[in-house]
Formats: sequence, structure tokens, C-alpha cells
Amino acid sequence: MASKMPAAIDSKSKEVTISIAERLDYTSPLECEFCNAKVSFVNGFTREVGDNIVFVNPYFRLKTGNAHGPECRYNIKGQVKIIARESDENFLAQTESGKFELRLLAVKKAIKELQNLAREKRKRGPYNQKENEDKEYVKSGKKLGSYINSAVKVLRVRSLCEEDKDIENLLELVFDGTRLPWKDFYYEDKDFFRCYSNVREATVSVPVAIVGTVKSVKIIDGKNGQFLVINLIGPYKKNEEGILDAVNVSIWSSDVELFNSYKADDMLLAFGIFEAKEISEKEINSSVSSVKKFRNHDLRLWLVSKSQLCKVNG
Ligand SMILES: [Zn+2]
Repeated sequence: MASKMPAAIDSKSKEVTISIAERLDYTSPLECEFCNAKVSFVNGFTREVGDNIVFVNPYFRLKTGNAHGPECRYNIKGQVKIIARESDENFLAQTESGKFELRLLAVKKAIKELQNLAREKRKRGPYNQKENEDKEYVKSGKKLGSYINSAVKVLRVRSLCEEDKDIENLLELVFDGTRLPWKDFYYEDKDFFRCYSNVREATVSVPVAIVGTVKSVKIIDGKNGQFLVINLIGPYKKNEEGILDAVNVSIWSSDVELFNSYKADDMLLAFGIFEAKEISEKEINSSVSSVKKFRNHDLRLWLVSKSQLCKVNG
């Protein structure tokens, strides 16, 4: 099981950070900081997402044939065990087979409940709040918060892994009795087209997680007040007829203050029930442009709780 690590120990017991490793100022072999598993350094690199260049930070990885000790904080099983111990058992529990199970229906119900209460609250307006209903909103918010916090902790563990398979042998996703593969739950920017299709075609909406780099953070004026919109960098593809398909992932909140600490180039994890709008098309009437038509695949998340969004390390 592979976790990405931010530091290591060299053969002279010196702590090797990323910048030390970049200067090659260490003595091989390198070991994990918290156990004696052998690790190696992976240089940072860039990759293209659409017309943007995204930088992947350098990290240390486990060498083939090595495993972290049972108590090591990079041991994924140990991490998931700790999260499960602290979680509501309706949401994350160990099954008889010894694997863990994350129950996504519970989180969907909590999100729906909170959305309904928020809608009611908006309808009543700020000067006409009923105290009891507000209490209910706070109670639902706490329950959702606890489910989401557990899910985000698990997702943080996943974001440290190099691949889905590092976590899926250990943690199964279940939605209303049906098993869901990790690839249909956790999407990185290279998977955004697939995410759009899955969300668009789904007969039943399932909460999913998206990890991506912030392109822009904007405050826009709506009919009923201001909104904060966070756009993520997304991929595009152009075909021979000059049709350019792009995915635009945006995260929306009416609570402008709560989320405006995020900025361009931050790597974010967003978790919730996304909405895939119908593809919108725009013709380009220019003889010099190689693009004849834009097709926008719009994927949106309306936040109902601040815990649905967090920063992760890229
Ligand atoms: Zn270790």
C-alpha cells in the first residue's frame, strides 16, 4: 500500500525533507520517518490539464516489496482503523470479513435533510425564523458534519495514495446495498469527463468526491444576494471537426465569507452530490479559429456544509 510522504530518514539518521532531497544532500538508502520501510524520492513534475499546466509536488514513495509497519502513520489500514473508531458506525464500520465499509446512503440522506431545511429557512427569510426549526437545522448540520468529516478523513487518506487500488482492497463503498467501485466515487481532474457522464446518466444520485486545482474564485451577484463560485481547472478535448469539449467543475456557496480563503492553484477536495447540467454549445464564427464550436460540460456542487470542502496536498 502506497502513501505519498513529505519526508524520510537517510542511512545516517538525518531527516530528509523534500528540499534536502532535491539538493541530493543525503546518504542512501532512505527509510520512512516512522518505521523502517525503504522509500525513494520522486521528483516534482508538471502535467497538462486542458490548457493549464499543473505542478505535481515532489514526494517520497515506498520502494517495491516494502510495507509500512502496523503502527506507522503511513500504514493505510492503521489510518482507516483510527478513522473508523472515531466515526459513527452507521456510516463507517468494520464488516465480518475484516474490511471496512463506507455507507454513502447515510450521507446522502443527511445532505438532503440539510438542503430541505436550508430551503425552508431561506423561504422564511432572516426576520422570520422559528427557533425549533433552527435547532433542527443545527442538529442535522452536526450529523452531516460528522459523516462528512469521516468521509473527508478517508478521502484525505486516499489523496495520499498513488492509486485507487491502494485503498479499495481495504475499504468498500456501499450505496443502498450496492457496492460502488472507487473509480466511480473518487475523481481526479483527468477523470472529470467520466465524472460528468456518470453524474449525468445516473438514475439515482450518489455523493462523490472530486479533487482538483483551483482556477478562479469569484463572487457574483445573484437575484437573492451574493454567491461564491470556485472553478476548478478541467480537461478538454478537440476533435477533427473543430469541436472542443471542456468540463467545467464549479463549487457554489451563498456563504461568501466561509470559503473566500481559497485561492487559485490551491488543490481542493470537494465532496457531495454534484449536478451535471445539459451540455451547452457555442458556435465560433471566426475564420482564423481552429475551434468551430465549444461544448461545455457543466458539473456543479452546491455546498450545504463547510466540511464538504477542504484543501489537500497535491
Ligand atoms: Zn512507515
